[in-house]
Amino acid sequence: MRPLIPYQIIRDIRHTLCYLKQCGCNGFDCSEASLKILKQLGLPRQGAGVDRETLADICTDLGDCTRCGLCESRTHIVFGEGSPNAQLVFVGEGPGFDEDKCGQPFVGAAGQLLTKIIAAMQLTREAVYVANIVKCRPPKNRNPKPQEIRQCLPFLKRQLVAINPRVICALGSVAARALLDTETPISRLRGRFYEFSGIPVMPTFHPAFLLRNPEKKRDVWEDVQQIMKMLE
Ligand code: URA
Repeated sequence: MRPLIPYQIIRDIRHTLCYLKQCGCNGFDCSEASLKILKQLGLPRQGAGVDRETLADICTDLGDCTRCGLCESRTHIVFGEGSPNAQLVFVGEGPGFDEDKCGQPFVGAAGQLLTKIIAAMQLTREAVYVANIVKCRPPKNRNPKPQEIRQCLPFLKRQLVAINPRVICALGSVAARALLDTETPISRLRGRFYEFSGIPVMPTFHPAFLLRNPEKKRDVWEDVQQIMKMLE
């Protein structure tokens, strides 16, 4: 039986070799062929290495949640959707009107812009995972309250650990502050990587903010380009 090598170690080796190659180093095998093999090996495989709980386990545990008051006005819980093996996870704030009606994240106007951003990254909605800090719609789309975030966030954190993506993109101030446990405004956080449970986190502006402030699209494009580089 072939020993299981945690894929993150393989990725680290590949990134180091890529870096050495860029520096002009030729004392190691930095050939395209070797880097390609490492890229294949470094793709996460379900069941490889550590036994992680699955998204289905977490969804079952969440159940028909009544842990906070948001359950009273919701139509659907919006658990999150996309690939359970996603290399990139987007985290928003909470479901809005459209998401509450259908139970899927980011399907309204902001969601359509997010889908365009994902396409500009040469990715698809199916290849990434999209979720929110809270899973039920706050009334009139107000910001989720700290107590609501406290109840809901552990489920998102478990989803992130289960997916174990290479990068998390926090969309907007609520997502960035909750994931990074900070009060720093998004305008100061965005544009560089932080960390959640060993996973790089890039905060950027929320697509709904971009709809109101299209001049900020350039900043978001810079942020997603950094993500794309990290995913190379
Ligand atoms: N805004 C969010 O933050 N999340 C959604 O799912 C939709 C809009």
